Amino acid sequence: MFSSLHSKLTIVMTVLTIVVVLIVGSFIINNTTNFYIDDFREQMYSVFSEDLILQLRGEAEGEDGAEHLYQTLSAYSTALGIDANRNFYILDGKSGNVLAGTSDDAPELTASVIAAMAGKVGQETRLTDAFLDVAVPISGGENSYIVYLKDTKQELQNINQTIILIIIQAVVFGIIISVLLSLLLSKTMTVPIEKLTAGVGKVAAGDLSLRVDVHSRDEIGKLTDAFNNMAGVLEDSVNRLESERDRLDTMFSHMADGVISMSQSGDILSINPAAERLLGVKQGPGLKYSDLFGESGISLEEAASLDPSKFLERTFSLSGRTLHLYLATYGHTGGERDIMAVLHDITDQDRLEKARREFVSNVSHELRTPLSNIKGYAETLVDATDIDDETRGNFLGVILSETDRMTRIVKDLLTLSRLDYNKMDWQISRFSIQRSLENVCTAMSLSASNSGHELTLDIPVSLPELTGDRERIEQVIVNIISNSIKYTPAGGRIVVRAVTDVTKLNLTVTDNGIGIPAEDIPRLFDRFYRVDKARTRASGGTGLGLAIAREIVEHHRGSISVASEVDKGTTVSIVLPLEDSHEG
Ligand code: ADP
Repeated sequence: MFSSLHSKLTIVMTVLTIVVVLIVGSFIINNTTNFYIDDFREQMYSVFSEDLILQLRGEAEGEDGAEHLYQTLSAYSTALGIDANRNFYILDGKSGNVLAGTSDDAPELTASVIAAMAGKVGQETRLTDAFLDVAVPISGGENSYIVYLKDTKQELQNINQTIILIIIQAVVFGIIISVLLSLLLSKTMTVPIEKLTAGVGKVAAGDLSLRVDVHSRDEIGKLTDAFNNMAGVLEDSVNRLESERDRLDTMFSHMADGVISMSQSGDILSINPAAERLLGVKQGPGLKYSDLFGESGISLEEAASLDPSKFLERTFSLSGRTLHLYLATYGHTGGERDIMAVLHDITDQDRLEKARREFVSNVSHELRTPLSNIKGYAETLVDATDIDDETRGNFLGVILSETDRMTRIVKDLLTLSRLDYNKMDWQISRFSIQRSLENVCTAMSLSASNSGHELTLDIPVSLPELTGDRERIEQVIVNIISNSIKYTPAGGRIVVRAVTDVTKLNLTVTDNGIGIPAEDIPRLFDRFYRVDKARTRASGGTGLGLAIAREIVEHHRGSISVASEVDKGTTVSIVLPLEDSHEG
């Protein structure tokens, strides 16, 4: 009922007004009463002087003393303030009976009269008495009288009643003024408070940009200032947190690693697109830990009970991919901890590692064969005593050819290494591809005819010029033609064709040789890959020719591909851009 500031203020101010008016009122009444009594006494002292007392004693001596006294005192009526409320009487000094007086009412035998009868001046009235009196004993000769003065305090009562009336009026006015004042005061206080309350409500609802106007420098103004500051700090913090969250969201959505968070019971809380792609799942209700990491061999219980400072890792395969999984728990200390999983796709890394191991083993193998051949023949030559010149010559020939083979392998490996580390010294120029093709074909024609093949060059009347490393491109073409010569049975046909369009040159070398099984075609450009190892090694190949060819062609921003059919023949196609083909 009295919960509002206005009613509280009204009550306080009303009570305060009443208390103040009552205190002031009782103070005034008290002072007025004291003043009235003091004034009465002073009047009595000033009238009843020594002289008047002597005069009165003289008059009291004779007969009709009372009458004389009455007459004398009547002359002092004004000075004594005699009126309807104040009378004087001449009493008999022994019995206290009234002998004469300004009123017919006989006064009582008060304490003052009794004192006067004992010969003393009687002024025994107490504050609580309803009257004021003074009794003065007068003795003259045989006679003794008492001059008695009595005031009914009626005048004082009248004054006090007027004061009380004024007090009541002051209380009523005071209450009215305090209600109005408290209304005004509460309005000036409550309006900014209401504004502040509305502001707090809006900020709580999320409108952090809101600021409340400050019009005063009082406590409410300071509170509003503090609120505005707080809202500013809050807005900054929320903005910072939001941009941080956006940053993490963007990272989460676009990172290559998969990130999944799960509850203790294995429900998926969040999963990023990378994780969906790696695990081949889509987020949706019912997706569980076991659906994602069943293959990893780590159970949900094992993951959920992980110590916060520890993590679990495991590599597992899923649909042809090699995935590395990290599992940890996170959350408030004491509260239920969730599970966080991070997935790395290490398929390429794994493949590269395998390729590296394979390459090292291939190199060792390729070098070991000629080395053991050389060692074998050299030992025989050293040990054998009765060896004829012809055999010795043959053995030395084998040693020489195996050394050549090793030299070729090492040379090819060095070329590949230079290509890998971009250490190749490219001689870029504008050159006639037509002349290069003619030169290569002329150079290879002897080798082709030695194997009984027919090598033909089928090109338009004129081919545009090409930008690139002429020698290396010619080396690629030689390599491909020599493959056709090697892998085509005697009497074969090898055709080198070249056509151009506006931007590129299409070069093909086609033979009608042994062909390549379809399953081997994708791996032809791998280092040391051979279709038929024994045969190709016998033919002197290193298994690095096509790998080098691809590196050189791709360095010129071109492409190389093979189409082949077993026992029908093979076509190797090279596409090279005419302009700016070199990679720089
Ligand atoms: P090599 O030096 O052994 O010839 P390449 O890298 O040039 O190595 O060739 C890789 C393999 O591809 C060869 O070992 C061979 O088995 C196969 N090959 C290449 N060209 C032909 C072709 N024209 N016909 C049949 N097989 C071929």
